[in-house]
Amino acid sequence: MVLDPSRRRLLGGVALGTAAIAGSGATAAAASLLDQASRSDTDNAIGDRVPGGRRPRGAHVVWSVATSHRGVALTFDDGPDPELTPLVLSVLAAADAHATFFMVGEAATRRPDLVGDVVAAGHEIGSHTWSHIDLARADRATTTRQIVEGHRAVAAAAGRPLSLFRPPWGDLTGSAVRVAAELALDVVLWSHSAEHLPAALVPGDVILLHDGVRTRGGAFDAGHRGAVRARHRDEIGRLPQLLRRLRDADIEPTTVGALLDAP
Ligand SMILES: [Zn+2]
Repeated sequence: MVLDPSRRRLLGGVALGTAAIAGSGATAAAASLLDQASRSDTDNAIGDRVPGGRRPRGAHVVWSVATSHRGVALTFDDGPDPELTPLVLSVLAAADAHATFFMVGEAATRRPDLVGDVVAAGHEIGSHTWSHIDLARADRATTTRQIVEGHRAVAAAAGRPLSLFRPPWGDLTGSAVRVAAELALDVVLWSHSAEHLPAALVPGDVILLHDGVRTRGGAFDAGHRGAVRARHRDEIGRLPQLLRRLRDADIEPTTVGALLDAP
């Protein structure tokens, strides 16, 4: 992994928080999956085509963005969820704010209607693997399958190409970064979670919130899942306050893409 001088120029001189991957060849497993993906009818911008009409950026790993844009990116993970996603959409709509949603492939496949609601409201979509496994504990083939299948499923449900990927719990491996690079996806981490916000937010910050519930314990932790759901409900309850705080500081709540595309 190297700092990318062209990216540094693009961002007006500051490369902190952004790294890029030097050219990498496809593994056999990735090549085979990418080949399948590129021949599928979901047409989700695999390979060297430019997602969303942006110039190819390679796979940058971003946790904050050096940008002239006076914006902070709000990011919602783990949806879509029949309870939490509509809640978030209504709070954002009331504040006329936009955000980026990192969706889990299997959840998006189950509820494409909710994905459609998020897209129709003008928000940005990224992928968050197929079933929210911990990539730090996955072998290369599993990592490839999780990222590629998650990407395909979310892009198909959204009806548009995607250019952003977030690994569950922010856990990355070399394999995961490499697969993202081969899919021309930027890897988006975060500078602050909504649970631990600093006194001052800075333009270019990326904030982690949730519109879904995913835990490490699988099917055996219903009680824990309930607690996490309650915590995320509280987080959404505090969202109007966060939005007011940003506006008071003359900072626009926005998408990751808006920060990355700004000069
Ligand atoms: Zn997650």
